[in-house]
Amino acid sequence: MAVNLLDFDIDGLTAFCATLGEKPFRAVQLFRWLHQRGVADFDAMSDLAKSLRSKLAGTAEVRGLTLLSEHVSEDGTIKWLFDVGQGNAIETVYIPETDRGTLCVSSQAGCAVGCRFCSTGHQGFSRNLSSGEIIAQLWFAEHRLRGQKGHPAMGSGHERVIDNVVMMGMGEPLQNYSALVPALRVMLSDHGYGLSRRRVTVSTSGVVPMIDRLREDCPVALAVSLHAPDDALRDNLVPLNRKYPIDELLQACQRYLDKAPRDFITFEYCMLEGVNDSPEQAQALVALLRERIRCKINLIPFNPFAASGLKRSTRERVQAFARVLQDAGLVTTVRKTRGGDIDAACGQLAGEVQDRTQVQARMSKLRKVIAIQPAARTAAPS
Ligand code: SAH
Ligand code: SF4
Repeated sequence: MAVNLLDFDIDGLTAFCATLGEKPFRAVQLFRWLHQRGVADFDAMSDLAKSLRSKLAGTAEVRGLTLLSEHVSEDGTIKWLFDVGQGNAIETVYIPETDRGTLCVSSQAGCAVGCRFCSTGHQGFSRNLSSGEIIAQLWFAEHRLRGQKGHPAMGSGHERVIDNVVMMGMGEPLQNYSALVPALRVMLSDHGYGLSRRRVTVSTSGVVPMIDRLREDCPVALAVSLHAPDDALRDNLVPLNRKYPIDELLQACQRYLDKAPRDFITFEYCMLEGVNDSPEQAQALVALLRERIRCKINLIPFNPFAASGLKRSTRERVQAFARVLQDAGLVTTVRKTRGGDIDAACGQLAGEVQDRTQVQARMSKLRKVIAIQPAARTAAPS
């Protein structure tokens, strides 16, 4: 099968061009055609020698994703569904803001972590995406939106449409590490999308050894999905906690700060009514984090879906929780829900998977465990 040029970061493309007898600067030219101009047709790459273009035509291709659907929300959020073969689909979400645009990118079809409150987790794991499939989401979105908005091609003095990427779509990016890193490098490359390390965020449920590797290989901004102030509750909400408990996770976060592009870690906390949203739990979170790590906390109102059996915390409860954290000096924000009308909000991303039965059974067992968590009994009526 032809080599997919979207799979390569600049070093990879240089090595590939060397196998064709081409010099490194040719790889840079080719890379810019692909990523800065969004061109997939070798014949259109006018400053490449004809001989190189014909070598490429014989060995390589630019394999984008197959678009299944596009939904545009009332608030301007766009959700694209892509077919990645064998009944699997992934989603990519564009979130426009007044002065910038953020793209939420998927790293896997499904997810093996199986968090209780996440619809991707409920579907189980299908497969890892390749680097090409990860970067193709940005490649597609940037150039499609650029075309629609009438922006000139990227390049000198370019105006990007997307200036933030968050690895917060489907999948656990740090469980697909070898494909993730080249894709991140394309995002960061000056010959690619030129995003600063602060504007590319990897969100993880806490794969401790891979947090350490990311710190060495490609330290972009880090968000950690915490969701609970203690191991007993986190074991149930985020099953990976049984392997990498909170204390180990926080130690990895501290180590990460040595190389991080920002001087804090973001902790995400999905607000679930009667499960993790009591004032006592807010105090426990303060005790866990305040003296220990420079961080910001992002409270995410839970986006419900039928199979979860969970409810979103009320606004009052979220505000009260946030106040406890803020009063203790922890910088805390509440995430605005975007794209809810098109199911593009966090955790609502859904793809087709082949066999969900096992996962559904595991989930219903977990549901029983969670019902007896003490926190569930302290729920305030809403
Ligand atoms: N696997 C990674 C990244 C993808 S999930 C991770 O877990 O961090 C991105 C964020 O969406 C995570 O913080 C996750 O906890 C949150 N999320 C998942 N399901 C959600 C839901 N139903 N409502 C609100 N947030 C959700
Ligand atoms: Fe996977 Fe993240 Fe969903 Fe957990 S929240 S199941 S890690 S995608």
